[in-house]
Amino acid sequence: MIWKFLLGAFFFASCSAEKVIIIGAGAAGIATASRLLQNNITDFRILEAEKRIGGRIHSVHFGDAFVELGAQYVHGTQGNIVYQISKDYFDFKDETNITHVYYRTRVNYGDDFIKEMFPIQRDIWSRSVFNDTFGNVFLKWYNSTVLNTYKNDQNMLNYAKDAIKTAECINLEETGSSSWFDNIASATYDVLPGSQLLSWNGIGYKIVLDIILGNYPKKTGYNINKWISFNETVTKINLDHDKVKIRTEDGAEITSDYVVFTPSLGVLKHEERSIFEPNLNTEKMKAIESLGYNGVMKIFFEFPNRWWGNEERIYFVWSEEDKRSFIKDVPFGPSKEGDHWLTWFFNIAIAPNNPKVLIGWIAGRMVKEVEALTNEELKYATMYAMRKALGKTFNVTEPIKIIHTNWCTNPNFRGTYPYETIESAKINAIDALYRPIVSSDGTQRVLFAGDAMIQKRYSTVDGAISSGFREGDRLVKFLKHQK
Ligand SMILES: Cc1cc2nc3c(=O)[nH]c(=O)nc-3n(C[C@H](O)[C@H](O)[C@H](O)COP(=O)(O)OP(=O)(O)OC[C@H]3O[C@@H](n4cnc5c(N)ncnc54)[C@H](O)[C@@H]3O)c2cc1C
Repeated sequence: MIWKFLLGAFFFASCSAEKVIIIGAGAAGIATASRLLQNNITDFRILEAEKRIGGRIHSVHFGDAFVELGAQYVHGTQGNIVYQISKDYFDFKDETNITHVYYRTRVNYGDDFIKEMFPIQRDIWSRSVFNDTFGNVFLKWYNSTVLNTYKNDQNMLNYAKDAIKTAECINLEETGSSSWFDNIASATYDVLPGSQLLSWNGIGYKIVLDIILGNYPKKTGYNINKWISFNETVTKINLDHDKVKIRTEDGAEITSDYVVFTPSLGVLKHEERSIFEPNLNTEKMKAIESLGYNGVMKIFFEFPNRWWGNEERIYFVWSEEDKRSFIKDVPFGPSKEGDHWLTWFFNIAIAPNNPKVLIGWIAGRMVKEVEALTNEELKYATMYAMRKALGKTFNVTEPIKIIHTNWCTNPNFRGTYPYETIESAKINAIDALYRPIVSSDGTQRVLFAGDAMIQKRYSTVDGAISSGFREGDRLVKFLKHQK
């Protein structure tokens, strides 16, 4: 461990003169840094716990192109900073098309019906219901319309009842919540005009970081690695009069004038009491606790051949009989109150420009435990489910490779994206969350950026980038004023 000590000593010596420390090299941290660099401010350092940049943007090569372990889509065009800075370079692929549903009979079933789930979600969001959960409002609508319509058609009625779980999964995929009885019915999230599902067509979302840093289309921008210390986990942020003292897991101590904190809401929820000295004020603590943060999981399958014909996106509706067979034939993995984890495997979709790859999605309260399953277990279970739903229509082959995400288990993320709850809306939590911490000399010393630190576009890459620009601009103003 002597090298770690030496590295720590060097690190302390080399960083003690930094004006600014940015914690985290995700979209928000990189956006903050880009603003500093554009204003010729170079005396800063980014401390990043992982060994790569990007955070929850994580594009990896798999099959014939890049797939997205994290952020995948650009949500909306007008007013979306990601779209605005990238649109001249790429043809985004609109993935809103061709959705089919597979049910017991193992053929396409009730497609129009599941397509209604999307407009109704948007409709409920726009109704300004801030005192009820999404699940309650949805079920009231569903009981009085859909279930009522089919009350004399037993087959459709069974289908409509079984489809409720798929509807919940669709909502959980959008919100990242663990249950639709946890997230608020109408969020303050701004649905921007334009397609909500524009993908990077296999090029990799991470290219947006190159664009921000001026390295795309030509590599003529900043070499940000010069400013980043990787594998450097911050464990203490101590605000002491006119300085902020940072301690890292390696024992290094760095003093700086300003800190920009960008780790996820999941990290904040877990570390809020241990990392900040003195403790955050009650208003901030309440904000952190009231906002929701759970996760979704993606599994990527590479097959020897494309067996799914022209399908682009398939939703599964599991019947009571399917559920019983999961319990009997997949006797591993979590189950809660008779609820088998595999019934939360609700969707598969193609990966753009990647003809032999499918992406499977799992939502809900068991994601963290499902992440702990081995690749072999995941493969066995999901292939069992896929064959059950699709086996009569397609010759479903065995994948040659699978990988899966671990966002909930990874201590540097602890989940995927934040969501609003009834409680957080009552106290305007996001506003409280990103208010800077002021030191005893009256200066805003600890600033907050990230996808939970922005009104209306929280939980998105564009929101994270906008919050990073906001805090970068704030710092530029302070630092120029000091000169
Ligand atoms: C599966 C998934 C799908 C998504 N899909 C979409 C999508 O389609 N469209 C969209 O717009 N958004 C999507 N998102 C959300 C989007 O990825 C995030 O909103 C955005 O990337 C957050 O950026 P950030 O900089 O705020 O946080 P992060 O990316 O989490 O960056 C924070 C950084 O801080 C580091 N860190 C944490 N703790 C410490 C510590 N103690 N010390 C030092 N460093 C630390 C982390 O390693 C991380 O690199 C998705 C996210 C996930 C996980």
